Amino acid sequence: MKNRVESERRERRESGESGANWTLGSAGDVVYVAPEPEPPGARVWFFTRLGGVSEPPFDSLNISTKVPDDPDAVAENRARIRDAMDGRESAWVRQIAGDGVARVSEAGLAGEADALVTGGEGFSLVVAIADCVPVALVGGEAGGVGMVHSGWRGTIAEISGKAVQKMGDTGVRAYIGPCIRQCCYEVSEELAGRFAERFGPEVVEGRYLSLPDAIRGNLEEVGVEEVHDLGLCTGCRPDLFFSHRKQGPRTGRNLAAVARLP
Ligand SMILES: [Zn+2]
Repeated sequence: MKNRVESERRERRESGESGANWTLGSAGDVVYVAPEPEPPGARVWFFTRLGGVSEPPFDSLNISTKVPDDPDAVAENRARIRDAMDGRESAWVRQIAGDGVARVSEAGLAGEADALVTGGEGFSLVVAIADCVPVALVGGEAGGVGMVHSGWRGTIAEISGKAVQKMGDTGVRAYIGPCIRQCCYEVSEELAGRFAERFGPEVVEGRYLSLPDAIRGNLEEVGVEEVHDLGLCTGCRPDLFFSHRKQGPRTGRNLAAVARLP
């Protein structure tokens, strides 16, 4: 596993990608993508599929019991992720592809929603992802954090902007994590048209839709000045991420997490 991470780092250096705004990190066997540089006052982990115990097609760091993976394997994967987050428990939501934002103050299930925000520390906010866009939010002056799950429904419903507004903070930084990108995301003409109308023609190219660009537009509308798009495509990188589009419904889910630092 470590060798794989090392060779990835080497490849990126050799391909001149050293200017990329992300880096691969590892904790135990678990491998994650982190923003580079890391945000002040918070930690962000976009966990890859590497370093867990699940068998194919859920290999190996699947965190969802909604797919037919072995529940014991999922429990072990979640424990490894908790260790990678220095023992932090997680606050999570039952994701319904809506625009609900839950404000939480402790770990545990926070009901049905697709985003979480908190001013608390000592636990992480997490969402499960397989192509949809994870957006980590790091507060400025007030210093809270947020995590958003944004598929096309959430994006057109402006969930990222709503999460920023719920944080009620200025100087929020946003980090757009690994997701299905325009290169791999063909949608219906009707849907492409709706996005072009709402977010501008530049978010579509023919029927290929860029969710990250639409989300960036939404974030800028609510006053976020720093939007860091990590640029990683789940469709192009099956070695690192699960992709519902590319691998079908029988695949795993990646975990995206953010935590405020004391
Ligand atoms: Zn792609």
